[in-house]
Amino acid sequence: MSMRSVQKQVDEWVNQYTEGYSKPLEILARLVEETGEVAREINHQFGPKKKKSTEKSSNLGDEIGDVIFTLACLANSLGIDIDKYFARVMKKYSQRDKNRFKKKP
Ligand SMILES: [Mg+2]
Repeated sequence: MSMRSVQKQVDEWVNQYTEGYSKPLEILARLVEETGEVAREINHQFGPKKKKSTEKSSNLGDEIGDVIFTLACLANSLGIDIDKYFARVMKKYSQRDKNRFKKKP
């Protein structure tokens, strides 16, 4: 699945409501919030911080999904095609970091 498909699904979902997209700073705050939820889950699963007995359990995959959804909202609201820029990022890593790590035989 390309990000174009993700962005389209998010756009269709958002545009069924009169409110539409939030402002970029509001979406950014949500993105930071959702990223914090990923960090919290990783800290619980792999770090020293254990959940309180009263805390609801969450799934790391669900939290990553929330980050992707919110990132798609941000990109859509600003007319950014993530696939286009992701391709540029991969090209950058492929060139700049091609000798940085030991390749598998
Ligand atoms: Mg979340």
